[in-house]
Amino acid sequence: MYVQVIVDVPQVDCDQNYYYRVPADLAGQVAPGNGVWVSFNGRVVRGWAVALGEELPADLKNFSVQPVIGVDETYRLNADLLALVVPLAEAVMSTRADILRLLAPPGMRRGRPVARICLPEKLSPEQIVLWEGIDPDCALILNRLSRAPKQSLRRSAFSGWPKSRLAGVLARLAGAGLVEEKICLPSRREKRAVRSPGAGPALLPAGRAPVLTTAQQKAVDALATAIDQQRPGTFLLHGVTGSGKTEVYLQAASRALAQGRQVLYLVPEIALTPQAGNHLAERFGRQAVVVLHSKLSEAVRRREWYRIAAGQVPVVIGARSAVFTPLPDLGLIIVDEEHETSYRQEREPKYHARQVALARAARCRAVAVLGSATPSLESYQKALTGKYQLLRLPERVAGRKLPAVNLVDMREELTAGNRGMFSRALLQAITQCLQREQQVMLYLNRRGFAPFIICRECGNVLTCPRCSISLVYHRVGERLHCHYCHFRQMVPKQCPVCHSRAVRFFGTGTQRIESELAGHFPGAQVLRLDRDAAEGPGVEKVISTFSETGGDILVGTQMITKGLDFPRVTLVGILAADASLHIADFQATERTFQLLAQVAGRAGRAGLPGEVIVQSYCPEHYCLQLVKDHDFEAFYAREIALRERLGYPPFSRLVRLEFRGADQTAVAVAAETWTETFKQLNGSKEFNVWGPAPAAVVKVDDKFRWQLTLRLAGGDARPLRQAIRRAGQAYTSRRGCPAGVKVSITVDPAGL
Ligand code: ADP
Ligand code: ZN
Ligand code: ZN
Repeated sequence: MYVQVIVDVPQVDCDQNYYYRVPADLAGQVAPGNGVWVSFNGRVVRGWAVALGEELPADLKNFSVQPVIGVDETYRLNADLLALVVPLAEAVMSTRADILRLLAPPGMRRGRPVARICLPEKLSPEQIVLWEGIDPDCALILNRLSRAPKQSLRRSAFSGWPKSRLAGVLARLAGAGLVEEKICLPSRREKRAVRSPGAGPALLPAGRAPVLTTAQQKAVDALATAIDQQRPGTFLLHGVTGSGKTEVYLQAASRALAQGRQVLYLVPEIALTPQAGNHLAERFGRQAVVVLHSKLSEAVRRREWYRIAAGQVPVVIGARSAVFTPLPDLGLIIVDEEHETSYRQEREPKYHARQVALARAARCRAVAVLGSATPSLESYQKALTGKYQLLRLPERVAGRKLPAVNLVDMREELTAGNRGMFSRALLQAITQCLQREQQVMLYLNRRGFAPFIICRECGNVLTCPRCSISLVYHRVGERLHCHYCHFRQMVPKQCPVCHSRAVRFFGTGTQRIESELAGHFPGAQVLRLDRDAAEGPGVEKVISTFSETGGDILVGTQMITKGLDFPRVTLVGILAADASLHIADFQATERTFQLLAQVAGRAGRAGLPGEVIVQSYCPEHYCLQLVKDHDFEAFYAREIALRERLGYPPFSRLVRLEFRGADQTAVAVAAETWTETFKQLNGSKEFNVWGPAPAAVVKVDDKFRWQLTLRLAGGDARPLRQAIRRAGQAYTSRRGCPAGVKVSITVDPAGL
């Protein structure tokens, strides 16, 4: 028997399956999905068995193939996950080993095999003395071994010896049958994750469910039918904020559970959605639900991994990486807030959990449901063209109204002499809300914040003449820079539209809000939820304090946008609503709409009527107007038409290459070299090459960054991937290429 193994060496030149012989003593144990130990380039490395077979391929027939050294029998990866490895590695341009590391149990990379040298039989002092005459080196080793406990030592105990000399001695001793070298594999304590039917805990009688609205009922029926028929398919649940999407998920979940299958529930960030885990636990019982939280210790995550793999956990909820949990018989995958960018992993391998979820669901014959009040353009397009089935919840539950949204023009505030961060309308609304003893949320829009230049008289934002995208302000040299086509210009002294001299760059912070609030509302208790708070009191603490109404005003950045449900919040204020409109990114408007609609949706979720005040320097922008009207469909129609006209995704595919290194010249040279190769490979003008240019933030952690973007019309990214692979080969085989430059590739980057 032979087994194909993916070795845990995430290097491009080792990114293939290798053949190993299955020795007789391991015959029954090696199976696809097992972790194995094999020797590879003279070392013992970990790997994963991916396929078994009787025959070697023709080109290996005449070679002697090495045996598998050991098997980790404690786990066996699910077939559906194993089948994902190659396509996923291909799609995100990482190695198979990188993907397998995501699939393997947490902490499995600890424990390395140890090479030991031992004496199979005890030697008498006389024998050793005899060897001193023949081969003093051999005698030294025999002497040490015979005094060691169990006559055995780690090979590393001899690390003082020159390598080749040690190898020679050991070969002579092994030849004489006096010593043995053994590889000791790390031992594992886990019981093998075998699936036993009915191993799961009996589900508790379901917690009481509310009477569904008509729209909820329709959605649940459609999902239930698909689940019952085990008909894999993707549903997009488009429900406005407060329309009761969670209840739809819960009832679909209980349908899958009733069939004895499992449910995977993905949320953008687990710390920000403690409520979702609680709902599941209340409905299905604490025992039935595992919340995969990033704060769990590795030992706990590991234990849960084995329980899940054994089919003992019916429901798993977690963020991005939970998409790889080894639920053995998935019936339903839920991707809540499917538009959120945190589903994409920004470091390698750069997978997108939504895409993985869909691929996985298809393989397990599971139903996938993507939910959002503001679906991504990409998903909504698929729903409209019939690739996904669209389910709608157009209204809030129990006859509640969406909040009234007021746009405030901050240019007028300035004219009226108000230089503070709060408009008069917002200050007044806060006063009233506090008088009613209700709660306020203030959102400071800083998403992807890149400083831009705005005219404070007319609101004009300086944009690129060729791309209609705002120019990014670079303090060095007082320059403006287009991050798409790399147009540059000096910061003008006057506004090109109204010739005012009040052109300023734009930037602001949460601390300033806090101090201004303290001035206006000295008695109010203000809580803050941003990345700083996450390091201080902790996100959950702030959320639970505020939801137990232990605070009057919650100030936050994008962390407060995600699915939070505070019944006593009746006023939401949005500061700098247009900040994220002007970042140099083709997705800027989409992201802004999503953020604002989601934040606005936090107001008036329980019976109390809600109000939203949106402060902006350009309230006439269609994005803000459509947020005001709660009109996602109109926004979609407008935005998708623009994308089509400009040839941006989803009408094209983008790949971004980032070059990073400590030496700026080396980074620039590498970027230029790759660009040149792409231009050569692109003789028939299959794709566009944009750049190279310094990244928006050129220096991070003392590393310089340049980037380069490729665009390909159409949906299939394969030609781009091929070009990248060839350019990579061309680059590494070239002489005189600067060393120390790392290239990182992102397929379908979230923005640019
Ligand atoms: P969404 O995720 O769509 O923004 P949620 O699922 O958080 O909305 O639901 C909003 C509120 O409505 C929650 O407090 C929930 O308990 C409640 N709810 C959901 N469905 C119903 C229903 N059918 N009847 C009454 N209340 C409901
Ligand atoms: Zn102007
Ligand atoms: Zn441009």
